[in-house]
Amino acid sequence: MNIQERDKKYVAGTYNRFPVEIVSGSGSIVYDTSGKRYIDMGSGIGVTAFGVADPIWQQAVTRQIGLVQHMSNLYYTEPCVSLAEMLCNRTGMSKVFFSNSGAEANECAIKVARKYQAEHRGPECSTIVTLKNSFHGRTLTTLAATGQEHYHELFNPLTPGFLSVEPDYIPDIPDPSRVAAILIECIQGEGGVIPLSRDTVRRIADYAAANDILLMVDEVQTGNGRTGALYAYMNYGISPDVVSTAKGLAGGLPLGATLLSEKVSGTLGFGDHGSTFGGNPVSCAAALSVLSRIDDSLLASVREKGQYLMQTFENAPGVESVSGMGLMIGIKCSRNAGDIVRAALSKGVLCLTAKDRVRLLPALNIPMDVLKEAAGILKECMV
Ligand SMILES: *Cc1c(COP(=O)(O)O)cnc(C)c1O
Repeated sequence: MNIQERDKKYVAGTYNRFPVEIVSGSGSIVYDTSGKRYIDMGSGIGVTAFGVADPIWQQAVTRQIGLVQHMSNLYYTEPCVSLAEMLCNRTGMSKVFFSNSGAEANECAIKVARKYQAEHRGPECSTIVTLKNSFHGRTLTTLAATGQEHYHELFNPLTPGFLSVEPDYIPDIPDPSRVAAILIECIQGEGGVIPLSRDTVRRIADYAAANDILLMVDEVQTGNGRTGALYAYMNYGISPDVVSTAKGLAGGLPLGATLLSEKVSGTLGFGDHGSTFGGNPVSCAAALSVLSRIDDSLLASVREKGQYLMQTFENAPGVESVSGMGLMIGIKCSRNAGDIVRAALSKGVLCLTAKDRVRLLPALNIPMDVLKEAAGILKECMV
């Protein structure tokens, strides 16, 4: 049997894969079994922040693998502590809880909100308000948080205590005394690369502050340099109480982080939460390497490359509109997005869809000439 037949036979059928097996790569270029070259404009859904098999990343990971690969949270390990310190120093947050994925980072945020408000405003103050069209993960609780009905069907009952609303409805929430937290993505990723406006985010932040509601930002996709700021909320001039992140944080190893502001930093105590793999030294060593490379000059180049993509596609034939920020770009075309992605694949460019848009999430360090080559091929596929 070939790999497609074996996958069909043995792997749960949750993914509609393209008929391509990627075997190796370097940076933003990957190769399949036949040696065909692809430019990777999806970076594993925004995960391989510095591309595939990056030498600096590899060195950080292999060094830690040669020391100790896992030690359980019963003992101290240096990469975990150094990464928490780096995250706090670079965001102004006070504490970090580590997990293994975006969904888990959001689960932790939700537990923090419920416990914090149970202690401060009473146990009935437990509702988490999220936005319509949001995406927060696949666990039963983060599905409940996800404001898209089609993900819920067949999995009910989901965790109760969630309400999803249109962003502009937030000031009209009927009973703010029961709302523990508002959870938002500054740019909805899976929802179609839809940035919230500065005004909307400001209004939500002001409303939360005025009503003693926690403001929590899901930076799983938008975080770690993706939008040209270290975290997307920094583009909006707000100070969230809780920030969750994952995807690009460790550049290709599983790691989730929930960042807690000073206000909520004392909420989790012994036994309140935990994760066997959370804070794994190899993932944390990878993330230390990734984060230390996301400096001002890298962020400036992410913004510049994002501008280039915006301008290139805004006036391209077959394009209706372009949305996004930094290297998180959504392109609405007159042609079907899935057809464009399949055409691009055959011409050697890997990219994604988000709802009815073509979505681009290239590595943060994609070279300009490679980016231009990919943009040229994509433009051909859009007409
Ligand atoms: C991908 C994503 C998640 C879920 O992350 P997993 O690592 O797949 O659990 C949650 N929130 C947002 C905004 C995401 O883009």
